[in-house]
Amino acid sequence: MSKKRSSVDEDILARFACTGCGVCCRWPGHVLLTDTDIRELAYHLALGEADFIEQYTRLASNRAQLSLKDKADGSCILLDGNTCGVYEARPLQCRSFPAAWQVRQGCPELDRLHDEKKRVE
Ligand code: SF4
Repeated sequence: MSKKRSSVDEDILARFACTGCGVCCRWPGHVLLTDTDIRELAYHLALGEADFIEQYTRLASNRAQLSLKDKADGSCILLDGNTCGVYEARPLQCRSFPAAWQVRQGCPELDRLHDEKKRVE
């Protein structure tokens, strides 16, 4: 799933509200971090930026950005049960889901809205 312009219809985007189910936090791929994400996550976790980078990040496969590490099961290192452990400070990539993503299915709330739309049409 790449993240450029959304593949999701405008009317569904307008109604989408993340339920915090944690499903997308288990999808394969990188959670790429901006400089602002790193600063805010480090602050949120009461760490210096160097310590945050050391403990929570890895070099992404594009070799140009840092990405959050995964746990052994492939989920995000910051996922706590089914809930984001840093929700208020979550990275831009997470906050921009699904508005800046190419994604058709796999998010339970998006799937529900698509099903609802199909039933109405
Ligand atoms: S930072 Fe939070 S919202 Fe983003 S993938 Fe990790 S657990 Fe999920």
